[in-house]
Amino acid sequence: MKKIGILGGMSWESTAEYYRLINQAVNKRLGGVHSAELIMYSYDFHRLERLLHQDKWLEISDILVAGAKTVKSAGAEILALATNTAHKVAGDIESQVDIPLIHIADATAEAIQAVELKTVGLLGTAMTMEEEFYRVRLKEKYGIDVVIPDANDRQYVSDVIFKEMVRGKFLKESRDGYCEIIDKLAQDGAEGVILGCTEIPMLVKPEDTSVKLFDTTGIHTRKIVDVALGDD
Ligand code: GLU
Repeated sequence: MKKIGILGGMSWESTAEYYRLINQAVNKRLGGVHSAELIMYSYDFHRLERLLHQDKWLEISDILVAGAKTVKSAGAEILALATNTAHKVAGDIESQVDIPLIHIADATAEAIQAVELKTVGLLGTAMTMEEEFYRVRLKEKYGIDVVIPDANDRQYVSDVIFKEMVRGKFLKESRDGYCEIIDKLAQDGAEGVILGCTEIPMLVKPEDTSVKLFDTTGIHTRKIVDVALGDD
């Protein structure tokens, strides 16, 4: 089993899910009392959240590259960012830290391709929905078309992430609001919807909607375990 390096705390709510899901998946595969070999660097999200909203990506990149070097020097053989948004600087990490980065959008695209969908909706932070690093990767590398909510709905989805979920609030009214937006994406042609923020799968579950969901936390953690166990 390869040692897994995780950069987390973005937010810790979803990083706790990563820790649980990775250990459960390793145990399911290996049985007994097996669990994952894992090194985690969990950030104080206060600082990173400010930099995100100030669009200071050079600083974010430096912080994440330093964290990746720290987990590598502690023995990590593979690396994962426990968030979608920070993948905007995944290339900087890959070019400066010499261990494989398991990219959340690649894992998600593989899951979409496995069920042969061509057009999907994307929910996440404003950066993830609006900027190119996620959508263009899905289109150019995998031929998957991505539809996003309108400006008002994007603002709502992003506000719920930053004002509620990263603060540990998972509210029924927000679940209902998300489900309405998921329905609109389906009406706009999405055959499924990516829950492209690692907190959203704690709010919206498959049973809340008839639309096929792609839970990036679940997909990413399964992929990390596949790679750690040498199946990929
Ligand atoms: N965890 C979130 C994501 O998957 C959002 C919080 C952040 O900005 O990192 O994008």
